[in-house]
Formats: sequence, structure tokens, C-alpha cells
Amino acid sequence: MREVIKTRHIGLCFGVSRAVSRVLKEAELRKEKIYTLGPLLHNPQMVEMLREKGIEPIDDVSMLDQGVVAFRSHGIMKEEEEYIRAKGLTAIDTTCPFVKRVRSCALYLRKNGYKVVIAGDERHPEVKSVLSYLGNDGIVLHNSFPIAAKKIGVVSQTTLDRETLWEVVKSLMGSTKELRVYHTICESTTVRRDEATALAEQVGMMLIVGGRNSSNTTKLYAAVKRIQPRTYHIEAEEEIRPEWFTDVQKVGIAGGASTPDVIIEKVERRVKNL
Ligand code: SF4
Repeated sequence: MREVIKTRHIGLCFGVSRAVSRVLKEAELRKEKIYTLGPLLHNPQMVEMLREKGIEPIDDVSMLDQGVVAFRSHGIMKEEEEYIRAKGLTAIDTTCPFVKRVRSCALYLRKNGYKVVIAGDERHPEVKSVLSYLGNDGIVLHNSFPIAAKKIGVVSQTTLDRETLWEVVKSLMGSTKELRVYHTICESTTVRRDEATALAEQVGMMLIVGGRNSSNTTKLYAAVKRIQPRTYHIEAEEEIRPEWFTDVQKVGIAGGASTPDVIIEKVERRVKNL
């Protein structure tokens, strides 16, 4: 029988699990629709399940004049928060505390005269959120790029990999008199990546489970694929193809921060039943 090994840290991360539980609890208590600014998590199956419970994602908060709105674990834009306050909407703040730490470190740096650099992806909602709270007075870097300033302060997107943060920091070393770095990569991201890459060395094939629109899952997939060429990124068990398993005795499974246990279990069952 084929052996299936999962990473130890799998299932929803602390921040996403906290956000989902809180919003589910509020939906039950309030008995009214709760809107989320974008999907609460990057997992289409879970988003559907939440929709059935009256939790609906919207793209633009200005569509609402009243009602209850929940922030995602990535945080929201400052303008959105201002709109919610001005309209008197009921807010459920489920921003992950680790994401809030990025924001507070960035604000502290700016207040103390540092040019703020956010190491991360400028398109990611978390980075956009932090930048908005800085009044767009910050620079987003995803690779080495020297910047001239007297004092530079760095924070990182929580789901960034350590190598990219280090690249950014190294490139800034020669261009400033003072460089202050807050290591704000979330532990959950680092641990999952370390465990998955270690597992990839021991198995004949890896499955990375998570939404294709999830930044941490796509990064996890890329990191694992570099080690184990037979690595597949899937969102659900239906995507598994039997021909992938030819001559494979051991299969490793890892998941992104937004992939619930229930989906991982279905994937595991399908692999075992092939
Ligand atoms: S990956 Fe980390 S920072 Fe992001 S929501 Fe999960 S626990 Fe929070």
C-alpha cells in the first residue's frame, strides 16, 4: 500500500482559523448577513460553505450603506476603515494579530523618521493595507534594490520567504547610515515551508493543497517544486490524476494557511484509495 505522509503543521493557520470561527459565531448570533471585504480565505470550497451560512464576500465596501462587515485576516485599506466608520457600519475586525504587528512596526518606523520599506508583493492585500495606513509613504520591494536614505526601516509581508527578505535587506545595507529591520514573517509560514521542503526530500511525490489565488500556497508550491519535481498544486481531491502516481511509493501532503483539515483529509483518502 502506498504510504502518505503529511506535514505536522497542516490545516488552517491560527489567523485564518480565528477569523473564520469569529465570523461564523457572529453570523449565528446576529442572524443577519455578514459581508466580508473579499473572500475571508483563499479557498473556494470554504468560501461556498460560508456563503451558505450568510457570509458573503463583496469587492467594494461602498456597495454597503448599512449592515455588518468583517475584515479579513489580511487586514483592510485605511480608506475602507474610514468609510465603515463614517457610514456607521458594524465592523468585525478579524485582522490577524501578526498582520497588525506589521502595520504597527511600519507606523512606528515612519513616526521615528525612517524611510519605510515593505519587503513583499505590492499586489498582495496585506501589503496594500499596510501601505495605505502609511498614507502610501513607503516603498515595496520584492528583490534587491538600493535606496538612498539616512534611516531605513524594513518590515516584511507575513507570508514572505526568508531568502527574499534577506535579499532586500542586503541590498539596503550600503545605502543608508541606519538600517532597522523588523522580522515580521509569520512563524506559521516559515514552519510550513520548512516542513514541506524537508518532507519533499523523503518522498517520491508531493501534493500541495490550497487555493490557486492563495499567495502562501503558490509560494509553498514553488519552494517544494524546486526540491521535488513531481510536485502538484491542487485545490481539491477531484483534481488528483492516477497517472501522477506511477512508481511512487511515498506521497507527501502539505497545505497552505487557508486549507482546512476537511479538504486535506479528503485528499489523503483519495490518494490511499487510488
Ligand atoms: S499566515 Fe500567519 S499572518 Fe497570515 S493569517 Fe495565518 S497566522 Fe496570520
